[in-house]
Amino acid sequence: MATNITFTMIKPDAVQNGHMGAIIDKIIKAGFSVKALKYTWLTPDRAGQFYSVHAERPFYNDLVKYMSSGPIVAAILEKTNAVEDFRKLIGATDPSKAEPGTIRNLFAKSIEANAVHGSDSDENAAVEGAFFFSGLERF
Ligand code: UDP
Ligand code: MG
Repeated sequence: MATNITFTMIKPDAVQNGHMGAIIDKIIKAGFSVKALKYTWLTPDRAGQFYSVHAERPFYNDLVKYMSSGPIVAAILEKTNAVEDFRKLIGATDPSKAEPGTIRNLFAKSIEANAVHGSDSDENAAVEGAFFFSGLERF
């Protein structure tokens, strides 16, 4: 059964290009509520750990370099059917294939610098949220 929690990051390209506010606004207007929010910077080690599931993929080293190239915003979001609805809101991994009006369609630069992360399952949402935040029982 779907939970109501997902995890997102606003990636370095989107933060550097000044889209942080517009993306958060779009997320809230789509009905998500922000349960935790952090402006931070991943070291290459931490970025590599976060994406370790992709360690064998050809794009992994570049992805780690890119994700540690500048500040990011990490957030835990709540909404009914959060994981699936958020993946719809952000659009396809490759922004040239993302539906018009999706966050990646509007703000992403390339398949790598694609503006936002969104968890792909309830299980990963919990793991990824815990990678950045603790003490969530208080929410
Ligand atoms: N990525 C990349 N090249 C690719 C596929 C993915 O650089 O060919 C990057 C991109 O930033 C993507 C991340 O690796 O968001 C994780 O890939 P995944 O397949 O999990 O895509 P997502 O779940 O983010 O849509
Ligand atoms: Mg993914």
